[in-house]
Amino acid sequence: MTAFIAPGATLGVMGGGQLGRMFVHAAQQMGYFTAVLDADAASPAGLVAQHHIRADYLDAGGLAELAQLSAAITTEFENVPASALATLARSRPVAPAAAAVSICQDRAAEKAHFAACGVPCAPHALIETPEQLAAVGDDLLPGILKTARLGYDGKGQARVRSRADLAAAWAALQHAPCVLEKMLPLAYEVSVIVARSAQGQVVHFPLQQNLHRDGILAVTQVPAPDVTAAVQLRAVDAAERIASAMGYVGVLCVEFFVLADGAVVANEMAPRPHNSGHYSIDACDVSQFELQVRAMTGAPLVAPRLHSPAVMLNLLGDLWFREGGEREVAPPWREVLALPGTHLHLYGKTSARPGRKMGHLTVTASSAEQARATALQASQLLGLAPF
Ligand code: ATP
Ligand code: MG
Repeated sequence: MTAFIAPGATLGVMGGGQLGRMFVHAAQQMGYFTAVLDADAASPAGLVAQHHIRADYLDAGGLAELAQLSAAITTEFENVPASALATLARSRPVAPAAAAVSICQDRAAEKAHFAACGVPCAPHALIETPEQLAAVGDDLLPGILKTARLGYDGKGQARVRSRADLAAAWAALQHAPCVLEKMLPLAYEVSVIVARSAQGQVVHFPLQQNLHRDGILAVTQVPAPDVTAAVQLRAVDAAERIASAMGYVGVLCVEFFVLADGAVVANEMAPRPHNSGHYSIDACDVSQFELQVRAMTGAPLVAPRLHSPAVMLNLLGDLWFREGGEREVAPPWREVLALPGTHLHLYGKTSARPGRKMGHLTVTASSAEQARATALQASQLLGLAPF
């Protein structure tokens, strides 16, 4: 992966969601062509790419076509089967590699990797058998039971207070392999997005402070209002070590809990650009999607610079059903766009559903106070809770 793939080449993406769409936009801006593999005819990235291969992730013909079209391939969806990435890697550079993606696909493997890097994570136990369930220590309660694989946006999780809750929650999750994590008293949450090149160069974005509601990211603020210099150092150092120890190539996001005493505890990681980095399109001189293009093409990585304080609000499908009816009603975009520094991003999804990520709004301003004040006005117009 040391050769430079120059603009004019075609870059492939496994997955056609909004992350793929924003990657395609960045690649196109830089003069690359794009090919997306996603079975959904209406996938957000498929709609904007030059080539849309409508095939399942494991479809041999689809993978061969993607490899044939593309000079290098990335993934926008962390649950793309690692074996599909390994197949592609036989003929084309793939970043991130299958081995790194497969660590991120399994919470137990992910936590083992954090530990191997000397990065603390929440006390936890693996639950795959009734014996392991019975052996769980009371010190892990109250806790959160999470499926080891395929969870996202708080799906595949249950909060449990007692052993009876725990047994019932595991049954409700069909006795799938799970991790029980102790519920930690969070002061706040942050994420760090890094990009690493094949040569081992690492750059990072400023810390993002993230507010989740019902297990889904709701608000990201940059600069992070509560972060101290010590927390900043610890989190960036941890994220860089986590990426380097995997020999990672591409953009990686690590989510952290920060406790009242300033302890920084790794929660989970995503082997791709992340929802908490969407603000970088409008508020940084280089976005997380451009860094993904640079990393996979062997272009130099440059340290991104935040040029405007920013607040990002996630726009979930719930916003289309504010009247309480069955019918979709578009949110008041005109009023929102009248506010200074608002950047509306909608992903081109054809129907809204509660909890579905439909878009995001980034508010930039010359000060963090102003960005927050405007974001609060936008929240009020949209019927979102204040933060
Ligand atoms: P994502 O969409 O980020 O992949 P996910 O479904 O994988 O989400 P997690 O990141 O594991 O979910 O958890 C979602 C949120 O739940 C966290 O951001 C945090 O607010 C809360 N949470 C998770 N684990 C814990 C814990 N051990 N202690 C306290 N809060 C927690
Ligand atoms: Mg998470």
